[in-house]
Amino acid sequence: MRRLGIVVPLALLTSLVVASPGHADPGPPKKAVARGTGGAVTSVDPYATRIGLKVLREGGNATDAAIATAAALGVTEPFSSGIGGGGYFVHYSAKTGKVQTIDGRETAPAAMEHDAFINPQTGKPYNFSPQLVTSGVSVGVPGTLATWQRALDRWGTRSLGRSLKPATALARHGFTVDDTFRGQVQQNEKRFKAFTSTRDLYYAGGHAPRVGSTFHNPDLARTYRLIAQRGPKALYRGRLADEIVDAVQDPPTVRHPHLPVPVGSMVARDLRRYRALDQAPTRIGYRGLDVYGMAPSSSGGSTVGEALNILERYDLSSLPKADALHLYLEASALAFADRNAYVGDPSQVDVPLADLLSDDYAAERACQISGGSTMDKPVDAGDVTSYDGVCGDGGSASTNTIENENTQTTNLTVVDKWGNVVEYTLTIEQTGGSGIVVPGRGFLLNNELTDFSAEYDADDPNRIEPLKRPRSSMSPTIVLKDGAPYVAVGSPGGATIITTVLQILVDRLDLGMSLPEAIAAPRATQQNSAEDLAEPAFVRRYGDALEALGHQVETYEDIFTGTHEIGAATGIELRKDGSLVAAAEPKRRGGGSAMVVTPK
Ligand code: GLU
Repeated sequence: MRRLGIVVPLALLTSLVVASPGHADPGPPKKAVARGTGGAVTSVDPYATRIGLKVLREGGNATDAAIATAAALGVTEPFSSGIGGGGYFVHYSAKTGKVQTIDGRETAPAAMEHDAFINPQTGKPYNFSPQLVTSGVSVGVPGTLATWQRALDRWGTRSLGRSLKPATALARHGFTVDDTFRGQVQQNEKRFKAFTSTRDLYYAGGHAPRVGSTFHNPDLARTYRLIAQRGPKALYRGRLADEIVDAVQDPPTVRHPHLPVPVGSMVARDLRRYRALDQAPTRIGYRGLDVYGMAPSSSGGSTVGEALNILERYDLSSLPKADALHLYLEASALAFADRNAYVGDPSQVDVPLADLLSDDYAAERACQISGGSTMDKPVDAGDVTSYDGVCGDGGSASTNTIENENTQTTNLTVVDKWGNVVEYTLTIEQTGGSGIVVPGRGFLLNNELTDFSAEYDADDPNRIEPLKRPRSSMSPTIVLKDGAPYVAVGSPGGATIITTVLQILVDRLDLGMSLPEAIAAPRATQQNSAEDLAEPAFVRRYGDALEALGHQVETYEDIFTGTHEIGAATGIELRKDGSLVAAAEPKRRGGGSAMVVTPK
């Protein structure tokens, strides 16, 4: 792009994106594990990790580095994150010893109807993918930029403008396309070609960006610069806000889009009234540790927390591995039953969070588990109005659906030299979000509202309501030992996020694995359905032993990508000797990138 710079008229530049072939620099080296001191960053992407690390090296703190890293992910991981989306930010302050969180979840417009996801022609919900996800109606009011500003205000030392600078340069100068990036564009071909703006950005020249070419996003660079100058109000008010509203109400479709593209009801006022919320974290005690997570509107903290409370009743470390995994799967099913029955946006639903996270409640839930056989699933939700920790009967009706899960979204973990910690999961929901790039602005809008239940049921805590945040599964988690940070971890993966984080914690805290081993280990997910869905290596290793206990273990397949991978986690462990172990995926999603300030 730079080489065209001055000679190309500005109007042309807006829609032109150059993926220049050949002679590109291969990008920063990618290592999944880094050990050392002085601070660490881990994310799915080496450009983003490197940018965060530079902030730490220059004296920025964990929040400064996290925002710079997240902004860079908006460039190199634009199909999983960006200012068109939302997320949850968890922070440990070395100064106060407190864990605090920000809920930056996308929100339904004020005019969203209960039947917004029902196709008027059929009277039934639109097909989830690609019809419903590719729409204006699924776009929630974005929360990411408000989250960045709020996090910097609360804990950062740098301005938003300064934090956006490295990512702006990355968008302008470009980065080298890898298999994952190209694959995600190709996966979305039909959706991306339905919108002129998205086609022009990701199918410039009629083809997906080639591996090894340099991808530039000058529109995004300009958008970041505008935000750097004017702050978040550049997105939540004024021209860009109007353009977002236009893209939602009248998506920029090609003439014959082959998809219905239902339109949304978002108006400028919805953007103006958006707030990222300071939210108290969830906390449970687990074998002497304190586990902090994200409270509703995410179901991450309550579901991981409840499952851990159930598992705490067993001495997992003394059990054969398959028996421990059996308990992990059973505890997951019980916690998912409760999640589905009770958890929604607390601004509109009365979530019995204290009950769900109480040890007595967990004790009663655990009564249903047997070491030698498997529960019939789906199991009912528990009765939060009456429990005493003693085995008896109980239970209430529960909804049990395996959700549309996949490995979009992204996660990053940062620790700085002072010992502040950030665990941040951010998303635009589906890989490629709604498929709608805001014309001339270089970023995709989310389809987060598809996390609501599609059909309205007044008893469903996750029913559609105006101004409501759809229930999330994002589970950024920070574990403290004796009041000091010990392990921070999070992952993408829709509802599988919960089980991925839980499994990593169990593997690390109970089953003797190092954090890198726990992140690399083969995964399974149990969401209160008859089958456990598992990665092929998990099926091979534990399938027979679990089936002998009555489990039905089946191979997991992502419904969108056809891959068999669950999640793409990152995490950092803070060791007693003051050193750090930063870990990302060695293989999943092409492998992630961990870096430390002073390698050992
Ligand atoms: N929308 C999902 C959630 O909030 C995250 C996206 C994903 O990873 O599927 O739980």
